[in-house]
Amino acid sequence: MTRFADRIAVVTGGAQGIGAATARRLAAEGATVAVVDLDAARSQVVADEITAAGGRAVGLGCDVTDPDAVAATTDRVVRTYGGLHVLVNNAGITRDNLMFKMPLPEWQAVLTTNLTSIFLCCQAAQQHMVGARYGRIVNLSSRSALGNRGQANYAAAKAGVQGLTATLALELGPFGITVNAVAPGYVATAMTAATAERVGASPEEHQRRVAEQTPLRRVGQPAEIASVIAFLASDDASYVSGQTLYVNGGAR
Ligand code: NDP
Repeated sequence: MTRFADRIAVVTGGAQGIGAATARRLAAEGATVAVVDLDAARSQVVADEITAAGGRAVGLGCDVTDPDAVAATTDRVVRTYGGLHVLVNNAGITRDNLMFKMPLPEWQAVLTTNLTSIFLCCQAAQQHMVGARYGRIVNLSSRSALGNRGQANYAAAKAGVQGLTATLALELGPFGITVNAVAPGYVATAMTAATAERVGASPEEHQRRVAEQTPLRRVGQPAEIASVIAFLASDDASYVSGQTLYVNGGAR
């Protein structure tokens, strides 16, 4: 498939997990991908894998909570490749704690990294997309947006992502830009492995417990989220905008 031939894509948090799977998927379908993460060297490892597989990619270091870094990285991608068509806002962190003992910095870090960063990346990207009258933005929300014990900060941020997504779809739609969100359930990544560790379980044991509660009786894999992100970023979804799509193995 070459749904992304001649498309330039930015994937934030692309050095591992869902972001890396998304970068690989978009590149496999013809996109030139800027893999963006905190550490340029880790981003470049994913970019090198893509290149070795015959794709086009570059690894860039950028803290997506830093407005100047976001602006500079976006400009660099546009200057180097001549445009920006797809933005996947995937970078995220958790700092789980029950609300009554959650320190303010943990609240702020999660809101800034999971929500404010998307505002910054969209603001930087939109000027190029509006000029081109074309854009595809996909934001990572979460099943936790519906509420999750110990994740007041993360749930608030991921619910905020859904509101931001719906609003940007209204504002940017007239310029040919779609904005959608994907809300995964439990996906086997470093993020959920860290959650397992926090509750004193191995990743395998934690996944087994979650799988028992999931209609499909297993947890998700990064590639299964990447394929949905790729759909929303493609012209197969040309009339889909402002939506949040839950990808969670059938859980209600
Ligand atoms: P990972 O923790 O595996 O990967 C996230 C990546 O984002 C890491 O490489 C991380 O770098 C990077 N990152 C963190 N902060 C920044 C920053 N300020 N600037 C740039 N990059 C940053 O997460 P997942 O792959 O599991 O999750 C990806 C997205 O999907 C997240 O938004 C997450 O909230 C969401 N999601 C995940 C679910 C899951 O079950 N895994 C479920 C629902 C939603 P570093 O490692 O150096 O911190």
